[in-house]
Amino acid sequence: MRRGLAMSLCALSVTFCTAPASFGDEPRAAGCERRGGPSQPGDRSDLGRAQVVAMLDDLRTTLLDRYGVDEREFDTGRRRARLVVPVRFHVITDGRAGRLSSTSVRRQIAALNSAYGGRRGGANTGVRFRLVSTKATNNRAWFRQPERHERPLKKALRRGGPGTLNLFTAAVGADVLGFSTFPHWYRENPGLDGVVVDYRTLPGGSYRHYDKGMTTVHEVGHWLGLFHTFENGCLEPGDGVADTPYEAGPAEGCPWIRDSCAQRGLDPVHNFMNYGWDDCMREFTPGQGRRIRAAWAAYRRPSGVRSVAGAR
Ligand SMILES: [Zn+2]
Repeated sequence: MRRGLAMSLCALSVTFCTAPASFGDEPRAAGCERRGGPSQPGDRSDLGRAQVVAMLDDLRTTLLDRYGVDEREFDTGRRRARLVVPVRFHVITDGRAGRLSSTSVRRQIAALNSAYGGRRGGANTGVRFRLVSTKATNNRAWFRQPERHERPLKKALRRGGPGTLNLFTAAVGADVLGFSTFPHWYRENPGLDGVVVDYRTLPGGSYRHYDKGMTTVHEVGHWLGLFHTFENGCLEPGDGVADTPYEAGPAEGCPWIRDSCAQRGLDPVHNFMNYGWDDCMREFTPGQGRRIRAAWAAYRRPSGVRSVAGAR
């Protein structure tokens, strides 16, 4: 069911991320998600517990194989990485529709740096983003149906290796605002790596409540290895991050307070990996920062062991 964001009084969310075959069942598409639709808890089909557990296991064993340590040990002292992520920005258009000013693009990069730098609140993840190119491509079909044309559009446009963020804007939709791949999938599917967001969600865009660039912050969180804070609801392992309390489902709008699971801690309604309105999104946790740096070392750092051992 779809309904326009302008009509919706609450932001409800349904994910339908699917993983490649190596991490679960039948592959259908890259990870993706919905925001702004009606509440249908039974309809939620995000990654699924088995896929999340498999991806967490894969990260753990990859870190052990490569570095001989677990996530917490990896992230201590001189090995704690500061990451600068090069961004290749792809603006897909249909004639005049979808065009973005250089100011919008710059403001989106600034919003990323502000969020990941802890300047909206929460932890500084140590991740910064640097715009290296902006390219406009006029293609009506890609613009109107980026999910359907995901493979050819990425094949034609994406550049760089596992550590380059290819960010695409198009008319993703009214309740699906963006979709992303996970770093765990790069090895199997390098050609699909990247993040696609609706062009109306950039800072100053026309999507009410989703016009501060937080959709990109959220999707890039997946690209860096984070799950939703409501992943698996109140059930183990949740999102696999120790300091994001369990929550039964996505936050709607911007609840004042919520405590939907018996486990300790209030729901992380202000977390970037929840589904609140852009104004509501304020923070990553230190544990999410650690997860990002570990996933980067495991999947996105091209030179692997040597550069980490020598990192300062
Ligand atoms: Zn998401």
